[in-house]
Amino acid sequence: MTTMTMASGRLVAVVFSLTPRHTHAPTKVIQIPRQRTLSTASSSNRANVKQNVTITSENCERILILGGGIAGLSTARYLLQHTQQQNIRANITIIDRNIDILPTANTLPSLYAPHEARLHKNIPSRRNGNVLCPSLTVPWTTRSLWNEAILPGLKSIVRSSEPTPPIAFDWPSLMSDKDMWSFGTHFLLQKYLIGRPEHQSNKSILEFSMKCLDDPSDDLVQSIEYGRCATGTQLGDGTIIAGDSSGDIGLFCSGLMDRLMNSSFDNGGQLTMIPGEEASMLHLNDGVLHGVTTIDQFGEMRTREADKIVVALGVNSSSVCKGIDVPCPVYPVKGHLATVASKTDYKYNLTLEGGIGYAAPMESLDSDGRRLYRLSGFVDFTPNKEVDFHRVNALLGATRKYLPDAELIDASACHRPISADDRPLIGPTVKFPNLFLCTGFGSRGWTIGLGSGKVLASQILGMPCDIDPAPYLPSRFRWSVM
Ligand SMILES: Cc1cc2nc3c(=O)[nH]c(=O)nc-3n(C[C@H](O)[C@H](O)[C@H](O)COP(=O)(O)OP(=O)(O)OC[C@H]3O[C@@H](n4cnc5c(N)ncnc54)[C@H](O)[C@@H]3O)c2cc1C
Repeated sequence: MTTMTMASGRLVAVVFSLTPRHTHAPTKVIQIPRQRTLSTASSSNRANVKQNVTITSENCERILILGGGIAGLSTARYLLQHTQQQNIRANITIIDRNIDILPTANTLPSLYAPHEARLHKNIPSRRNGNVLCPSLTVPWTTRSLWNEAILPGLKSIVRSSEPTPPIAFDWPSLMSDKDMWSFGTHFLLQKYLIGRPEHQSNKSILEFSMKCLDDPSDDLVQSIEYGRCATGTQLGDGTIIAGDSSGDIGLFCSGLMDRLMNSSFDNGGQLTMIPGEEASMLHLNDGVLHGVTTIDQFGEMRTREADKIVVALGVNSSSVCKGIDVPCPVYPVKGHLATVASKTDYKYNLTLEGGIGYAAPMESLDSDGRRLYRLSGFVDFTPNKEVDFHRVNALLGATRKYLPDAELIDASACHRPISADDRPLIGPTVKFPNLFLCTGFGSRGWTIGLGSGKVLASQILGMPCDIDPAPYLPSRFRWSVM
């Protein structure tokens, strides 16, 4: 363990290398804030901890990724792959505000442990609806605002016997929220004025991402166990949509981080993970973006400099971009999650009545040998983070149509990072060409995460993209609204 200070005096950190003993140093480094131990790293990682010193940035591109969710990790995965293949030397650093985001044991648990279910329940990349849904191509900007949001809301206000609407607005809180007004204006502009018909779909990124997840030549991704099951999604009329499946995003992200930390670099590149630091402000020097201010859990502030910065902060992407006047209309929209156990064994995802959500089978069983299902659904525009048990009971009630014996095991609520036109923002920003966005994944982030990371990594390195990036470029939101 080495405490070190970089020449500029801007970084004081304890640096641990997780380099396997047989490879050449420097390969990869994990940086953690001072006085912390690597308490949540796997035991095999801990065994490999040894002294190391960060290499200098000479002839080496410094790429800083803000956020270690599926967006940030996927970007890092393909930056690593491309830089290795093209022999480009790069220092890739991932910062996440959670100190305990490092991988735990990455083997698929045969039995579901409720304490694991609670880990990071407020981060959608660690716990979500489990549905891999390439069939969900249509953005909600194309759906009827009146029939699906306003009318059901009005009915439920007038008649208390009406079922709670799938989409609800907490108007008293929203009225005073400037970000909501900005998001709403972008939504209306995209829906009625700017959104081009050929961009009214998420199809290309959904299909491409599933290809990445299933790429047989990608040993790193294929080595991750994440409980992939379900062979399709059953609609209300009994039709089965092929191509959909289910899997645990938390296990996938934990496995991906583990593989990244244990990758070797043949070309002197480096991957650094910094948990426990919150990105608070992007920095300009003479109008050029050059770094980010972070604050750790001890309240210590630092400026981390970089040549290129990726914002992959989920629901917090917008607030960080706002500081330098970059439009990023991504809004937190609450969803509910529950895990239930049942003796009935479905092999596909179930669409719940009234379009309120899904029930997705999970690979693991409970201690009584019952199949577990992850329920997810509802769209609540509210800053409130609490679990609303009316919502949970409505999910449970709708599920009992298929699983009459469903027993509730746990429940939580979490905000999705939804963009104003329900398509992800992937690519450079207009204002700062060295600032990249990988966010706005909404309710499809598990399904599109990997592909989005690959498309962005190609753009960062100036390589051709595997799909046309145009529908997803942040430049479609040209103006800062409010
Ligand atoms: C209830 C619910 C159900 C869902 N179900 C599905 C589903 O079935 N299928 C599907 O495809 N998708 C689903 N999703 C969507 C999917 O989970 C998300 O789109 C996806 O996880 C978003 O990933 P992300 O990396 O963009 O953001 P996040 O997962 O939010 O990751 C962002 C990371 O940034 C870190 N961070 C945030 N702010 C800061 C800061 N200031 N400084 C440093 N670090 C910071 C956070 O700690 C976090 O680790 C669901 C989402 C919800 C909420």
